Amino acid sequence: QDIVLDIKNLKKYFYMPKGVVVHAVEGVNLQLKRGETLGLVGESGSGKSTIAYDVIGMYKPTSGEIIFNGEPLHPDIHKRPLKQKGDMQIVFQDPGSSMNPRATIETNLAFPIKRHGGLKDRQAIHERALELLRFVGLPEEYAQKYPRSIGGGERQLACIARALASNPKLIILDEPTSALDVSIQAKVIRQLIDLQKELNLSYLFITHDLSLMRNLATKVAILYLGRLCEIAETAEFYSTPMHPYTQMLLSSIPVVTEEEENLRPVKLESRGEIPNPANMPTGCGFHTRCSRCMEICKTQHPQMKEVSPGHFVCCHAIEGKPVDTEAAVL
Ligand code: SF4
Ligand code: MG
Repeated sequence: QDIVLDIKNLKKYFYMPKGVVVHAVEGVNLQLKRGETLGLVGESGSGKSTIAYDVIGMYKPTSGEIIFNGEPLHPDIHKRPLKQKGDMQIVFQDPGSSMNPRATIETNLAFPIKRHGGLKDRQAIHERALELLRFVGLPEEYAQKYPRSIGGGERQLACIARALASNPKLIILDEPTSALDVSIQAKVIRQLIDLQKELNLSYLFITHDLSLMRNLATKVAILYLGRLCEIAETAEFYSTPMHPYTQMLLSSIPVVTEEEENLRPVKLESRGEIPNPANMPTGCGFHTRCSRCMEICKTQHPQMKEVSPGHFVCCHAIEGKPVDTEAAVL
């Protein structure tokens, strides 16, 4: 299966007043295949949204490379071809602020339909808008409604419909359901799963909610202070979590019935506070919170190791085959 998104040694630093440098993303390597979902999970401040914004072109990476459909992405969004921009879309957490409230849903959809679909005829645009609404399971009458007159979940579905207007291959979902009620969350997630199958979409799904990824992700990657701790296929990830941070996160998911568990949003409970990314700990970034911390952890950042095929862990306490992250498919 071909790789849609290949993130190579991505770094993003923010240069703040008084010489402060925030290392938001510190050398991340990730690959996403066609038709699959990569769950990128971390607490706030872990750098997960920064990675998304580097991919979409809202930020310029400090260094590293992002390959999309086999082509390197230009760091400046204005230099990216229109087709390439249409091939990747992003859906944000707050569906309220990402649509024009003074325009109907149809008018909101018409802009990307014209821009990326090349449609000019009013009737053709109308038909396409209705088709997009059908794709996400919204009634056709919603075309004439205003974003504020429909529920939050429906508005998010309308945003997803708008993202589909350009026939994207990749959709970046940045906490798309965390502003929604749990029951509505499930409806949106179900719709995303159906769409993925129907359109062979790839999702980069950004979330702090590990329980959400269990039935959604093909592969889960855990990010902490801008670095990857662990990456594995979903079944392996939940059955054999190895990194102390992953274990901490998973232990905070309450055990309930499976159905409930899938629906329940989980706050990442922490042992100690997440350090300030502007003042990064030396060595392993997690050492200030880790129950297994050793002397070496305080001074030396661990190397990524492959513990079993496709399962990567970055921790001094875990045995495995050291990998060249630049070459490996993570
Ligand atoms: Fe803990 Fe050390 Fe592993 Fe970091 S490298 S997670 S501090 S054991
Ligand atoms: Mg964020």
